[in-house]
Amino acid sequence: MSMNERYDPHSIEPRWQRRWEEAGAFRAGRRPSAEKRYVLEMFPYPSGAMHMGHGRVYTIGDAIARHLRMRGYDVLHPIGFDALGLPAENAAIKDGQHPATRTRENIVAFRAELKRLGYSFDWEREIATCDPEYYRWNQWFFLKMLEKGIVVRRQGKANWCTGCQTVIANEQVVDDNRCERCESPVVEKVIPEWAFRITAYAQQLLDGLDRLKDWPERITTMQRNWIGRSDGADVDFAVPGQDPIRVFTTRIDTIFGCTYAVLAPEHPLVERVTTPDRLAEVRAFVERMRRTDVLERTGENAPKEGVFTGAHAVNPFTGERVPVWIANFVLAGYGTGAVMSVPAHDQRDLEFARKYRLPIRVVIQPARGDRLPAGEDLEKAYTEDGVLDASGPFTGLGSAEARRGMSAHAESKGFGKAEVRWHLRDWGFSRQRYWGTPIPVVYCDADGIVPVPERDLPVVLPEKAIITGTGEPPLAKVPEFVNTTCPRCGKPARREVETMDTFVDSSWYHARYLSPKDDSRPLDPEMARRWLPVDVYVGGPEHAVMHLLYFRFWHRVMRELGLVHEDEPARRLVTQGIVNGPDGRKMSKRWGNVVTPGPMVDRFGADTLRLFILFAAPPEKDIDWSDEQVEGLFRFLGRVWRIYHARQDCFRAPDAALPQATGDFLELRRRTHRTVKKVTEGMEGELKFNTGIAALMELVNALYACEPKGDADRAAVREALLALATLLSPFAPHAAEELWHEVVGPAGRDRLLADEPWPSFDESLVAADNVTIAVQVNGKLRGEVLAPVAAGEAEVRALAESEERVRAHLSGKTIRKVVFVPKRLINFVVG
Ligand SMILES: [Zn+2]
Ligand SMILES: [Zn+2]
Repeated sequence: MSMNERYDPHSIEPRWQRRWEEAGAFRAGRRPSAEKRYVLEMFPYPSGAMHMGHGRVYTIGDAIARHLRMRGYDVLHPIGFDALGLPAENAAIKDGQHPATRTRENIVAFRAELKRLGYSFDWEREIATCDPEYYRWNQWFFLKMLEKGIVVRRQGKANWCTGCQTVIANEQVVDDNRCERCESPVVEKVIPEWAFRITAYAQQLLDGLDRLKDWPERITTMQRNWIGRSDGADVDFAVPGQDPIRVFTTRIDTIFGCTYAVLAPEHPLVERVTTPDRLAEVRAFVERMRRTDVLERTGENAPKEGVFTGAHAVNPFTGERVPVWIANFVLAGYGTGAVMSVPAHDQRDLEFARKYRLPIRVVIQPARGDRLPAGEDLEKAYTEDGVLDASGPFTGLGSAEARRGMSAHAESKGFGKAEVRWHLRDWGFSRQRYWGTPIPVVYCDADGIVPVPERDLPVVLPEKAIITGTGEPPLAKVPEFVNTTCPRCGKPARREVETMDTFVDSSWYHARYLSPKDDSRPLDPEMARRWLPVDVYVGGPEHAVMHLLYFRFWHRVMRELGLVHEDEPARRLVTQGIVNGPDGRKMSKRWGNVVTPGPMVDRFGADTLRLFILFAAPPEKDIDWSDEQVEGLFRFLGRVWRIYHARQDCFRAPDAALPQATGDFLELRRRTHRTVKKVTEGMEGELKFNTGIAALMELVNALYACEPKGDADRAAVREALLALATLLSPFAPHAAEELWHEVVGPAGRDRLLADEPWPSFDESLVAADNVTIAVQVNGKLRGEVLAPVAAGEAEVRALAESEERVRAHLSGKTIRKVVFVPKRLINFVVG
């Protein structure tokens, strides 16, 4: 059987996809005695067609999974669909198609696209979060967490999107107080809501970040900032005839330098403390702030502005009365919504003090004996720790010691204490939407809120619903759903009509893959012991503070429930860059620069697309789509094809006769082994698929450059061709299978390359680089040898003497002298 000379991906790819499927090649658990690796990519929301971002994330994950399988691991590489959520519901509002119908159709189409790309998923584990068999476990977790007090019902200030007509998460509120999804203005609304007490896990989630060494630092930094622990103190400043103003400060050591206090414009005390003569001006300012965007108000470059309330408050440490102002840069939501201002030691306070001519008093010196200029002469605020000055009994203490002592003093006197504050808020997760998991509680007139008993799960989302996108939640208008009986007293009751945020679905899907068909529990703890945590998690960096935080939170809850055994869900995180359009801009219909995987597979085949994605840049970097580069990679595969075709005679060359000493074919062998090393290194550690693919291109060039003559040459070519197919396999798996089978011939027909071991390399062949050394006899060039850079005279002489042409000139002569110039030449002086 001779192979087709022309590279035709469309005949090859479906054939190997079928073979892999028939063989169950990618089923997890096939190697029970091997070490496990769990490779996971963030599952897709099944929109109509796959976009290039999906193509990139699954191609990266698949290269990793295929490589690990070839390294002998038992690999779990599952896929499913994040199928609930707003897009399908919003689309239904526009065209009336039911979200369930649309989602099912989309899943069918999306699955087919994924299959065409030849990803090595274990399809038997496929899940879809819109199946009651999945979301019943969301409900189960809800009940467990309600029992444990991790789920609470509260009056919450919620972000209400005026466009989506629903509550959205803090994290979904983007620039200008707008909705991330629909860009409509977001307003604050106080409503009863369900929330997860993720704040109870704030310290754990923060501490855990230190152990996530294989997560990108920018992601852990973003999480650290989002969790936002501040260590400080609350201090009460008395206001005669009013409640005291409680300020939160992380620098109580500077309190003797406080020369004014500032309230947020929204602070409830503003109206009460403002003196009648100032009221009109203060109200106007408050009103203006209400209409100003938060980021605009508090941005680093925003001008500091404020207004005096006419009131004074007493600094409890000094007994001094300080004026109370309101200012644009203080927010009600941070700390207590009130701050003490220390202009000498805070730049913002300094700018404000200069503008409004408020006193500036230095109370921290950089070191004992140092003196900063007087307040009025300070160039900029001194914000570092130092030694306290002009601070009464605390003068002379270091800042850290002073903070402890002063917090303790405040506590003993009853006007304050040490306090830790967090940026992280509880996760309000009830949504006034239809296409989500029903929240399993009922409202009974006699018993109040009653959880649905576990045995009655799932509470199924009714298919019949009128989705208008306005007013009441759609479920409220489905009487068959709403009207039920109270599980406690049996009297009529109403079901909860709100549904869960879809971030609930994605918080634990990684665990559902372990036993996706188990209908008695969310996951099998034995399987969790085998497979968790995820070893490599691949997805977009935009999920840093939403999904990835919830995912870590939920894993901890699962551990508390005895379902999993470790704190963190994923050991390593790989975040991939964007695929931009050919013009370097983000792909968008508006700019007409959208390229999708489907048509590219039609034109070039999956392998070329996969190669492009992996070759264009390392995973974390953005790439620009390039037709030329894609065509170049298609041509590369064609070149690979032709060299296999041209070298078919080498496939059967005897193994034993590999060239060891010199010549082109030793150089080819060295190239082969160096390529194995290079590609292997690119699969590990930093993930540099691109340099691995570049090395494969060089190997192909080297194969074209040499013409095998004897069996030894052919054996070297065969070695190179086998390595090439094997190394190509994680990147262009279909072509690699085809080529590998050509080389191994009928003997290997039942085996799959996907199952073959990853090649190893011979250290001695890659150890040092070789140099070409000129061989002269009596000063005349008679040949060349290839020798390791470090080779000495003896080694080079031995190599030279074994060269055919050199030997001819030496035979029958006496070597009188040898001149050796390392790395350059060897000259035999004969007579
Ligand atoms: Zn919206
Ligand atoms: Zn009842």
